[in-house]
This record gives sequence, C-alpha cells and structure tokens, in this order.
Amino acid sequence: MAHDHDHDHDHDHEHGDEVATDEEAQERAEAEARRQLALAQIRQYGDPALRLKAHEVEDFDDDLRRLVERMIALMHDAQGVGLAATQVGILRRLFVYEPDEEGPRALVNPVVAERGDESTSDEEGCLSLQGVRVPVDRSTHIVLEGKDEHGADVRVELDEYAARVVQHELDHLDGVLIIDRTDDEHRREALATLRPRAVLR
Ligand SMILES: [Zn+2]
Repeated sequence: MAHDHDHDHDHDHEHGDEVATDEEAQERAEAEARRQLALAQIRQYGDPALRLKAHEVEDFDDDLRRLVERMIALMHDAQGVGLAATQVGILRRLFVYEPDEEGPRALVNPVVAERGDESTSDEEGCLSLQGVRVPVDRSTHIVLEGKDEHGADVRVELDEYAARVVQHELDHLDGVLIIDRTDDEHRREALATLRPRAVLR
C-alpha cells in the first residue's frame, strides 16, 4: 500500500517556509531516485500477476527469508507501508507491512481470525496503481493469524490504519485491487488514469 501523504503534515510544515539546504535537496533527489528504481521492480497495473491468487508457503527456508528482506527493502525505497509477494511476481501468500513506528514485519499464510463489525471508508493508494487514490471501505478492527518468516505462529490484532493496511495486502494475495473495492465513479476515474499508461508501456 502506498504511503498516505495526508499523514505527512508535520514534515511538510517543518520545511514549508524554509529554503531547503543543498544537502536536503540532494537527499530528497536521492530518495526520489530510489523510489523510482523500486517502483520499476514492482508489478504495475496491467501485469497479470496482480490478478492471480497466491499459493500457501510450504517451505520456511532461506529463500523465503531472502524474499522477505528484498520485499522490505523495496517497500522502504518505494516509500510504501505494505507490499505483497504478488506485487513482485511471486505467487506466494505473504506480505510485509509497516503501518507505524514499530518496524517492518512479515506475515506468511495470513488468515482472518476475527473481524470487527465496524468499518470506515478512507482513501487508499497502491504501489502497483501509481497516481490512483480511491476511497475503500475496511473493517476498523481485524485479527490475523499466520506465520513469520521463520515459521513461528503469529497472531496480530490491528485497528484503524494498521488494520486497513493489512486488509489491502491480504486482498493482493487473492488478486483483488482497490479499484475492485471502490464505488463505480472512482473506479471509472482510476481506470482513466491507468489505461493510457498501460497502453503506452
Ligand atoms: Zn497495493
């Protein structure tokens, strides 16, 4: 899932009225270059891998842990808060996420153990659908069970933004995208943004 820029106000205000130093400008340019390189390695809308259902992970081996490391690095460079394996063309049921300050985590073979009755609508972006932000209805409380990358049992209880992020990533493992979850008007707008790019590629 793409970083929610609405949550970036503090950062914007710090720098709003100041002229950026050369060093800051250089850092920002480097971060943007890294972001573009990462996005080029993430499957983009129109790629069939984004529409396929991923299979259970069976082997908790070094290959899996290397994949998790690579996905976390890509998520960071792309300035995202979540990344599913299908987005890097690997049809396995795992995703990485980092909705808060607690650091990146991986969830392998995740299943919904509990879902709260309440839901809210908020805008979401996706690293595979650049330039698109659409409102999506998500449960505000969710409990997921699965494994970590070492095969240990994991149970996570998440609320609000974090709950939204993992529901978005879980959808990716079933080939479901945010444009499938929004209303008709926003879907039409999103497709208008995405289609020309898909044709020109
Ligand atoms: Zn996404």
